[in-house]
Amino acid sequence: MATRPLVTLVLTLSLVGTTTRSARAYCFTTTCDEVLACDGEPPPDECKPLGWRGRCMGFSIQEDGGGGLDADTVESLTELAFDAWRLADCGNGNPGFVAVNLGQVGCEKNQYNKDAGNANVVVVRAKKWPHPDTGHNIALTTTTYDPDTGALLDADIELNADNYGLTVSDESVDYDLLSVLTHEVGHFLGMGHSDLSEATMFAVYEGGTTELRSLDPDDVAGICSLYPPDDAPKETCNPLPRHGFSPYCRDDQPEGSCSTAGAPPSHAPHSGWIVAVASLLWARRRRRRSR
Ligand SMILES: [Zn+2]
Repeated sequence: MATRPLVTLVLTLSLVGTTTRSARAYCFTTTCDEVLACDGEPPPDECKPLGWRGRCMGFSIQEDGGGGLDADTVESLTELAFDAWRLADCGNGNPGFVAVNLGQVGCEKNQYNKDAGNANVVVVRAKKWPHPDTGHNIALTTTTYDPDTGALLDADIELNADNYGLTVSDESVDYDLLSVLTHEVGHFLGMGHSDLSEATMFAVYEGGTTELRSLDPDDVAGICSLYPPDDAPKETCNPLPRHGFSPYCRDDQPEGSCSTAGAPPSHAPHSGWIVAVASLLWARRRRRRSR
């Protein structure tokens, strides 16, 4: 599979700590670099908001854990992070999406396979953080999406236990893992950064607090707009990735395998896909295209 980096850019956070000016509230990520759809305003026609079009998705935890965190702990906290978004009170119900825990997986890679099974994985990086800007990224969420429609195809969350002390305690808090996960699950769902410093989706987290665990009204307004309650899928919806679910990385899967039963295609085959990266603390975005 031909995959190459096409564009890599880093957004510096000139917005950090500025809350006095007119602040932009919740935002959605879109198919266009650096273009967010904010405050309910639609983006330009050519920029589609990202979202799970079936509104039904699976997630998995990498089985090895790391940095003093075992996989079971990461799994239970990831479920709580999804619950924070899933149970948001929209006034007329909860956000209209279903997220299913598909269990722990062996694959530790952040990857999307066009011709094999996939898993949307949460993985702890305890030995060497594999991305640039070491020391600035507490976590990184990589989303893969259809550039024509904005349909999310894959999302992987990497936790930086190499450079940060990720804690689970309510009292002795360094970088609170549940806070970090709640923010990253927001990216997983299609949320971008908010300029409101009290929002869970604010781009900067300095640690020492568990406040990001609970959503701010701004986060709630965003997720209720992205996944309106009226559009909720059935709890029995198919959460499997487009090419099927696999707990194994691409190289460990049989040639041409699509693993377990694949999710039904939601639209015509697309001509390419793009990977975007969003992270906590520093806003970064990276795109890869494959044709
Ligand atoms: Zn972020």
